[in-house]
Amino acid sequence: MLSQLVRVNPDLNLEGPNSSTRTLVLGSNGLLRMLFPIETVAWHKAIELVFMQRAVVVKYYGNLLVRSRYFATLAPAVIRMNKSCKISNTVPHYSYPNLLIRDYNQCQYCGSVPKTVDHFVPKWFTRIMRIIEDGKIHILQDMEIASDIIVNLLRQPLTWKNASCICEELEPTLLKFDFSKFPALPLNWENAVAACKNCNAKKGPHSIGSAEVELQYEAPYAPNSSHMVGNYLHVHQANIPPVWMNFLQKSLRVANR
Ligand SMILES: [Zn+2]
Repeated sequence: MLSQLVRVNPDLNLEGPNSSTRTLVLGSNGLLRMLFPIETVAWHKAIELVFMQRAVVVKYYGNLLVRSRYFATLAPAVIRMNKSCKISNTVPHYSYPNLLIRDYNQCQYCGSVPKTVDHFVPKWFTRIMRIIEDGKIHILQDMEIASDIIVNLLRQPLTWKNASCICEELEPTLLKFDFSKFPALPLNWENAVAACKNCNAKKGPHSIGSAEVELQYEAPYAPNSSHMVGNYLHVHQANIPPVWMNFLQKSLRVANR
């Protein structure tokens, strides 16, 4: 039964959630029987979504109590977003835990356990992208930076998909310039991959074509909910809260159709 946060007795002898407690977020296409997972969020983020009336609670963790000064409730285990969405084009928000799920908790260069996020598209290039997006091309031209390359760059759509190829062309000329005063674009699905410290250090500021390391897995991509559910099961098979299983299995049946 769907519900808002329910009040419970604050004196219940139950533990609180910890920093690894997560909530499964479901989307729907408008029909309640077509629920499917979108992503997982920290339990406190789930409570915030319910308070903001953007989601409702579907299942609670029966053994985890959340207490505030005036209110006590059980930690939400599964919530459903109120706004309907399509399973195929729901992109989970970019975050480090979600990145690890997309990348199967493996360094994308050597397969070991990742501890860092690598800027697959080098930071210096994202700075150029930002300058171009802000319409400040003259800054680059004033610096007499390979203006013919920049003119070429502007002829093609500046998407993340072709950014890495463009980088390889620009890198020998531009790597020596100091772009540090321009902010880099934040990490997102298409410019980040999970990496171990060793490979991240080896890759440094280089694009993939000229770096010492090679990408062994998929190029970074924005996953949809079906990718994330499949990858989550693969990575965390032993740690999936039992209360999620019914929703994960249902969603896989939907996603595989
Ligand atoms: Zn590695």
